[in-house]
Amino acid sequence: MQLFVLSLNHRTHRALLPQLLHADALVQIASGAASSVDLAESVLVSTCLRLELYGVARDPEAIRGWWRALLERVTGIDARTIEPELEVEEGAARHLLRVTAGLDSVLWGETSVTGQVRAAYRAAIDRSLVGPLLHRLFHQAFRTARRLRSEGLVTPAVGSWSELALRSARIHGGGSRLLVVGAGKAGQAILREARRFGFDQLLLHGSRNDDLQPLADSAGARVASSLGDALSAVDVVITCSSRGALVRRAHWPEEPPRLAIDLGMPANLVRAELPAGVRLLDLTELEAEARRLAETRPRPADSTPVWETILTEGVETFIAWRRGLDRSAAAKGRGNGSGRVSFVGAGPGDPELLTVRAARLLREADVVFHDALLPPDLLAAIPAGVRRVPVGRVLGQVISEARATERSLIEWARAGARVVRLKGGDPALFARLGEETEALRAAGIAYEVVPGVTAALAAAASAGASLTARELAASCAFVTFRTRAEADGEAHRDRLLALAASADTLAIYMGSRHLEELGELLLAAGRSPQTPVLLVSRATHPDEQIVPTSIARLGEIAHALATPAIVLIGPSLSHCADPFLIRNPIDSARVAP
Ligand code: SAH
Repeated sequence: MQLFVLSLNHRTHRALLPQLLHADALVQIASGAASSVDLAESVLVSTCLRLELYGVARDPEAIRGWWRALLERVTGIDARTIEPELEVEEGAARHLLRVTAGLDSVLWGETSVTGQVRAAYRAAIDRSLVGPLLHRLFHQAFRTARRLRSEGLVTPAVGSWSELALRSARIHGGGSRLLVVGAGKAGQAILREARRFGFDQLLLHGSRNDDLQPLADSAGARVASSLGDALSAVDVVITCSSRGALVRRAHWPEEPPRLAIDLGMPANLVRAELPAGVRLLDLTELEAEARRLAETRPRPADSTPVWETILTEGVETFIAWRRGLDRSAAAKGRGNGSGRVSFVGAGPGDPELLTVRAARLLREADVVFHDALLPPDLLAAIPAGVRRVPVGRVLGQVISEARATERSLIEWARAGARVVRLKGGDPALFARLGEETEALRAAGIAYEVVPGVTAALAAAASAGASLTARELAASCAFVTFRTRAEADGEAHRDRLLALAASADTLAIYMGSRHLEELGELLLAAGRSPQTPVLLVSRATHPDEQIVPTSIARLGEIAHALATPAIVLIGPSLSHCADPFLIRNPIDSARVAP
């Protein structure tokens, strides 16, 4: 598997980029990428000056072909003109670290790009496209960017495009009257900062004039309803509208502003359409301006600036981890990430029965591997932005093989992630905890276990029943059922017979499909046919069902009981018809005064 980035940027694809960036379909298609090509992980970063696909794949070159074809399909642009640059492994890692720290930006060191990369990463997490490798890489990139800024090693000459536009307006235009066309983020920032650059008569024009008043008021600006009139009343106009056509259709007055600055992407203004005498600064010229401003600042004499060293350190940390990961995958070496795995009991289904600790761990997690069967209400306790991976079985179908799940837990933990393995009920009961912790121990990864409310206890609580009673029941056994036909079934039956004869109360897990066989076994163990039985289906779920019966009548129960269901058997279980029992504690709690 190789780490790669495919990048298109304003330097190589100036003309194409605006079309690509505004193709929303692109993002949607990219989100389905994992299924149509051999792409194990992916994050699509699209800022106004770049479109980059970071990924992990066996054959990045093949992904490049697929990506070009996809861009052609989405935008109608001839794929031959789209040449995404491909970098792999260390090159790709360095690329992301540079981009994230603003070192690859036109406005060297700008901070807004870090937020954009973070948003792209979150979006990919939400679509379950991120795996351990990109998780580790992006976190490294955020860490390095933070370090470069907090240590003052990267301080931009111009902090933002709006600042660059205003500075250029001051230098090349002058006057004090400014018109801003466009009320998006850029427009708002320009209005906010304009006074600092000597503009104190501010006009604002946008496509929906009604909505603009509050914004204009907050900046001490006036709303201009006619663009033509506004253009005749100012010294400088800055355009940054997402609806460039609107601006282009404007009627330019006899006495136009001296300077027009176009931040639009795609461009709002076209040089050939402007009246003579109006100077236009477009993105290319602003870029040159930014370079000039940067050059006027003192530079360190040192040939390798400190920030370059820190960046390299970040890349090397990542690559060292990556090599360690690869080696250990091959040779099963010791882990070196600082991640950990928490095995967390999810309880029986009602989200209120999660422990406080379980809820906290879910909030703090980077990734949650959960039993596929857990109800949606419960999964809602996992915040958006935390990657969820369903594992285990659905309707008897294995959706993720146990060994593969163990490998994933290890990989994520090695990548430094906080991993939660969320299991129904309690993780230590009939839930393969032993196998999974053994795999982590072998890989040298730290883990913890957080208990949960197991089905037997939840079922008894729902029925208001006690599993023990002073005179009647002094012991309770939690048992899994196996049919005679199953592997090990006969041997298991012998143990079950002995237990049925000795434990007072039995909680039978995974037995609700075999009630007849269970009834026969209990009678064979010498239990009285009148012994009370509680069948509890989907305990604590909104559609919970409680069926009181007896051993003698077990065979008569229809097979229609919804799963999961548990069978409680024993002399203490006869009180479930209690009229004082609140059947659905959650709803009752809501209507309580
Ligand atoms: N670790 C889980 C048990 C997993 S085995 C726990 O501690 O609860 C799966 C079995 O648990 C099911 O076949 C069923 O017998 C029981 N079970 C799980 N959730 C249940 C629920 N909400 N209501 C009734 N039985 C449940």
